[in-house]
Amino acid sequence: MKKSITNLCMLLCFISSASPLAGQTPHFKAAVIPANLLPGEPVSVAIAGASGKNMRLSLVNKQGRLARAVFWMLSPRAFIEGNIVQAALVTVPVTASSGDAALRIENGDAVIKEIAVTIGTREFASEVIALDERNTEIRSVTTAKKIQQANKLLSILSHTGTDIYATTAFVPPVPAHTRRTSFFGDRRVYTYTTGETDAAIHAGIDYGVPTGTLVRSSADGKVALAEYREVTGYSVVIEHLPGVYSLYYHMSKLAVKQGAVVKKGYVLGESGATGLATGPHLHWEIRVAGENTDPDICSMRPIFDRDALLAKLEG
Ligand SMILES: [Zn+2]
Repeated sequence: MKKSITNLCMLLCFISSASPLAGQTPHFKAAVIPANLLPGEPVSVAIAGASGKNMRLSLVNKQGRLARAVFWMLSPRAFIEGNIVQAALVTVPVTASSGDAALRIENGDAVIKEIAVTIGTREFASEVIALDERNTEIRSVTTAKKIQQANKLLSILSHTGTDIYATTAFVPPVPAHTRRTSFFGDRRVYTYTTGETDAAIHAGIDYGVPTGTLVRSSADGKVALAEYREVTGYSVVIEHLPGVYSLYYHMSKLAVKQGAVVKKGYVLGESGATGLATGPHLHWEIRVAGENTDPDICSMRPIFDRDALLAKLEG
């Protein structure tokens, strides 16, 4: 699995428009990495020759829009043949079905270009997790506090900033060889003490580390949240790029405060079993425009490779 992902990531795609559509300049160019996509994979795009305040990019297929991209102006600015280059980053949803899809670039209501891509098939594991009374309550009982905390997190993760902190591949927050107790995209069924069940998809990777293990930032960034949450315990969220966040859950102790700028490897706190946890572990998650993104792919290559994209655009 790992090898096939790496190979896919090595594929670079270069598209130059042959027949301009309405609203498109004849100099339109786009570069996409990678060319063949998998569920959970981040896709980066550089666009030149089409700019505007209302530029958008979405991943679409026959069923409609699968995901929206975060869109930003490269900083420092880059130009190709006199045209400013814009950046977009979108994650293929972990639930996306395989087959033909497209990256649809729009300016306002006008479709500027559709770039054909293919979404491959990916297998995910299944697991059943029996929750005790405490965890059943954490997961199944809605409280005003939980709603307020969920809304706050949603608002952070849907915010697209302008700062570029991380330019290299991410590193796991605990030693990479650590035993994993759950994987990205696992199809989960929780069983409650009441006998009821609930299905979910695991959004990140769980590392089975003992309480007190140092948890480190997976890339340069800025602390967007560092506090106790009822469902995820002591939690840290780091902003790395516009709309790109990493999340660390169930810790026993926090070592950073909101607003701190951290380097890759900086200690964020210690692991634990706070919040919804059946034992000590660290939950590590990455979001792009709110979409769950595979941390392993983000560890294999930069999530947005500016140099590789610009080189492709320059062709
Ligand atoms: Zn987890």
